[in-house]
Amino acid sequence: MRLPFTLLIDPVPADSRQQNFDDTFHEMDSSAPALRVGELSTQRGDGIFETLAVVNGQPQEVEPHLSRLRNSALICDLPVPHIDQWRAAIAYAVARIPQQGEVALKFVLSRGVEHGPAPTAWLHATAAADFSAVRANGVRVITLDRGYPRGVAERAPWLLMGAKTLSYAVNMAAIREAHRRGADDTIFLTADGYVMEGPTSSVVLQSNGEYVTPAPSGAILHGTTQQSMFEYLRARGERVQYRDVTVDELRQADAAWLVSSVRLAVAVVALDDVLFPADQPLTDALNAYLLARTA
Ligand code: PLP
Repeated sequence: MRLPFTLLIDPVPADSRQQNFDDTFHEMDSSAPALRVGELSTQRGDGIFETLAVVNGQPQEVEPHLSRLRNSALICDLPVPHIDQWRAAIAYAVARIPQQGEVALKFVLSRGVEHGPAPTAWLHATAAADFSAVRANGVRVITLDRGYPRGVAERAPWLLMGAKTLSYAVNMAAIREAHRRGADDTIFLTADGYVMEGPTSSVVLQSNGEYVTPAPSGAILHGTTQQSMFEYLRARGERVQYRDVTVDELRQADAAWLVSSVRLAVAVVALDDVLFPADQPLTDALNAYLLARTA
């Protein structure tokens, strides 16, 4: 039982009939060299990933993460992942990490090495950062132009907008810009003023008595945490909706959250330097629900 925990994976083709995958998993010392210099994931960010939470030994939302990995592979023309193998790799890792506390489990499928092994894959589990303060106190958020108009994903699929690719340099730059402006996080807008998502989270708002998130039309990720949040809200009898949200609607919302797998739900408490109403009791209840998920 240890962290960090690293597993190199020999990906099998999606149509393989193999059922036991243990011989395709290779445990690594997390500080030992593991990737070749020619890796296209490190040279070009050419690969996809998922990060899921493991809470007290329970991996959360495994199937939605696996299905998003598959969808990202299709968008990026990567070899389609063998879902049973990935499910087995997650179970293999979860059985070997501490069964208490919150863990971030990241898994990566890379285009591999030019003229070498391809694709390549690995999984890496680390202790999650302590997010208790932001879960309790919320985040100050700025809006930033993502630079693309609405509908760009359909017109320019080579931008890979709906795939969770490894190329997060832009996303990290947006968070640094938020810090430069005295805020904690960012909400991306389309060039024509529609709400997209955060650099590492989905956006949900409460507006006119319903809970709304921008439709995952191809330009943004379909967040697994946002889907859990909608299940929770539906079970409480609330109305939930996927639809376009303008920045003006966001500014006038009754509450808004950034939600993601490891940080979970954090309330927006300021938007572009203006105080924003937060529903902390709902945020607390939602995070208790999210932490207690068992599948
Ligand atoms: N959107 C982006 C760009 C993300 O990077 C993430 C998560 O990292 C999300 C949304 C939220 O997805 P999930 O709730 O599945 O973690």
